[in-house]
Amino acid sequence: MKAYLKNIYQTLSSIMTGMKITFSHIPEKSVTIQYPEQRLQLPERERNRLYVNMEDCIGCDQCAKACPVSCIDIETFKAVPGDIVGRTGVTSNGKKKALFVPKFTIDFAKCCFCQLCVFPCPTECIYMTDVFEYSVFKRDGLLYEFTDMTPEMTLEKKSKLAEYQAEQERKKAEAAAAKASEPKEETQKADVIKVEVPKSEALKPEVPKEETPKSDEQKEENKTES
Ligand code: SF4
Ligand code: SF4
Repeated sequence: MKAYLKNIYQTLSSIMTGMKITFSHIPEKSVTIQYPEQRLQLPERERNRLYVNMEDCIGCDQCAKACPVSCIDIETFKAVPGDIVGRTGVTSNGKKKALFVPKFTIDFAKCCFCQLCVFPCPTECIYMTDVFEYSVFKRDGLLYEFTDMTPEMTLEKKSKLAEYQAEQERKKAEAAAAKASEPKEETQKADVIKVEVPKSEALKPEVPKEETPKSDEQKEENKTES
């Protein structure tokens, strides 16, 4: 009986302790908000989903090289001379665009939001946005494509490049053939090694060789002979 009454006492006292804490918070200002109707101000340096402004992207691949988890995949090919890449052919900070970018994907399922891809970009066209609500049911939904080129456009530009490269190769081959068929006389001339006599040597007057003085013995011999 004593234990039974003790249990009742402990139960009531623990309820009272809990209710005391609850009632003490009633007059305080609430800290919860009614999300998603209400939203908190995000911190200034928050890291969320990336965005790439393709009008400014020059396809330099710096962001992909900086990514520690290799979640950026970029494909590029050269533009032929006279072809305009994008709408204007230059970025907003005046850099010339020489590469088409038919593929620029970021796999946000792999992305760790380290922001390392943002800093090396020379045109500042890849940056963090304030979008953090992009849940999907399948992982494929987190593969984002940023290129503004359609497959038809890519095909057209690639075939133009192939034609240009073939033309360049043909010109090179023609130039090489023309060089090889140059007259041999010209090449022979080039092979002759001219041996030039230095002017100072050529103008030197010839000095007659001096006779070496005869010894006394020889002189005596000559006298007796005579
Ligand atoms: S934030 Fe980090 S992990 Fe995500 S794409 Fe950029 S470099 Fe890669
Ligand atoms: S670093 Fe910038 S300009 Fe270079 S490929 Fe990446 S997004 Fe484009």
